[in-house]
Amino acid sequence: MPDIALEDTGEKPVTPTGREGGGIELPSSADLAARIDTMLRILASISDTAPEEGVTRLAFTPTERAAHDVVAGWFDEIGLTVRQDVAGNTIAEDAGTDSLQAIGTGSHLDSVPRGGRFDGIAGVVASVAVAQMLKEQGISHTHPFRFVVFAGEEGARFGQPCIGSKAVAGLWQPEHLDEVTDAEGVSLAEAMRLVGLEPGRIAEASWRDKDWGAFVELHVEQGAVLETQGSLLGIVDLISGSTRFEIDVAGRASHSGSTPMSLRADALSAAAEITLVAEELANDSRHRGTRCTVGKLTVFPGSITTIPGRAVVHLDVRDVDSARQRQTANQIVRRAELIAERRGVTLEVRLRSDTSPVVLPTWIRQVITEACQEHTDRWRVMSSGASHDTQLVNTVIPSGLLFVPSRGGLSHVPEEWSSAADIARGSEVLLNALLKLDAHPHLT
Ligand SMILES: [Zn+2]
Repeated sequence: MPDIALEDTGEKPVTPTGREGGGIELPSSADLAARIDTMLRILASISDTAPEEGVTRLAFTPTERAAHDVVAGWFDEIGLTVRQDVAGNTIAEDAGTDSLQAIGTGSHLDSVPRGGRFDGIAGVVASVAVAQMLKEQGISHTHPFRFVVFAGEEGARFGQPCIGSKAVAGLWQPEHLDEVTDAEGVSLAEAMRLVGLEPGRIAEASWRDKDWGAFVELHVEQGAVLETQGSLLGIVDLISGSTRFEIDVAGRASHSGSTPMSLRADALSAAAEITLVAEELANDSRHRGTRCTVGKLTVFPGSITTIPGRAVVHLDVRDVDSARQRQTANQIVRRAELIAERRGVTLEVRLRSDTSPVVLPTWIRQVITEACQEHTDRWRVMSSGASHDTQLVNTVIPSGLLFVPSRGGLSHVPEEWSSAADIARGSEVLLNALLKLDAHPHLT
């Protein structure tokens, strides 16, 4: 290693004894699905809520970090070199026989509050399984293979999705990390510092395309297309973008008994109307494919005998068509302004995040398709309504996304479920796809 490596890069090598939470042994069962099931159970137990309430492992909490430590320990046990970057992403490497661009796979370990055991985790567990199969079967590869656990993918805590993968894409400015806050007013920068990370050096987490050749993520579908169509694997061609914003409605709080209906400026009634307008626009046939959701509505002062003086509508507009996504968000705001005028309330609109839809590269899709075909003919090409780390990674290196079925299409709830057998099949296909990429003419 050249001398320059002695510089403090902000990256921390990881050893199982050096970090808290490591040291949970990797399951050694011969059966791949049984191993996957054990890993899923161990990770599900690392949660801030009781098992029956689902998994709560929010971005940049000690709980998320503990899950990273366990997985880092597993990669170390397999014999990989493990490090943590300045943004909190865990990266394990299995060296290739040549010094070529790396081929990567991975997903995330954080969850929404009271979420499921599979969203993100399936892809992490699959990457551990792939690393294990490579070592056990003595499979050599020319490119280095890197296994990545991204930090903070869910937007649940900070209203910002894909924090770790945005860092590898080089899209964060350190000052923005101070501006983004959680519901308690803790800034993202502060949250990162509290778990030992270095937000001021976030730029150092970015990946250079000369170091990386391709990336493939395995994820649970989070919808019911595969299940209802009887497909076992989904190859994603498009990932929806999302525009997230808040409409802060200010009315006039007053007594619910003594204020006549004609003299009210009810912020919640206006917010309710805005919510229905968002739904109406998404249901309009000209918006086919657009999904508008008000997933959160905050009402002040929140008393049954007080007319709401303020209501904040949290909106999420998703689409695979970037122009239509932004037009819909703008239309909601225009219609909200008309509602506000008519109802005598005022509005403040705050954009929280705006991510464009992504078309994944055809050649990577082709590689994943060939890998699927060698395992089963029950696969299909589909788009993803949910956002994923892959869409950020794809801004710097060509990337692909492979789905495994979600039971009943449920996700972000405790009932979220994918079978270990389906994830095991996905892991075998993922390994096959990585090996095809290793031999691919685009990467030699
Ligand atoms: Zn996810």
